[in-house]
Amino acid sequence: MVPVLDGTPASVDPATGTMLVSAQWWNQAPFEERLFVLLHECGHLEAQGGEFEADRWALETYAREGHSLQKAVLAMKHYMPFNTMEQYQRATALLRQALLLEKSPKG
Ligand SMILES: [Zn+2]
Repeated sequence: MVPVLDGTPASVDPATGTMLVSAQWWNQAPFEERLFVLLHECGHLEAQGGEFEADRWALETYAREGHSLQKAVLAMKHYMPFNTMEQYQRATALLRQALLLEKSPKG
């Protein structure tokens, strides 16, 4: 835990697996947002990929644990200001994945 991170709630170093979490963000974030962000950082390590792969891994894991997909998608909008094309694309990909997961049986 560090006091503040610039422009992100958390980050991970793939070389060492060290994760940094902003205390400023953590202390005001709801449970679903904390969980999704931590899973996203784990996703960078588990899926060994960039933002899209980490998002996908995080949402799959989040859904498998039985948490609300709606709350995951809503959590994302709190920490992504949607001011870049990549953020719009990530949001669209997550929404699409959430809708597909919602339709398919769990497990
Ligand atoms: Zn990331």
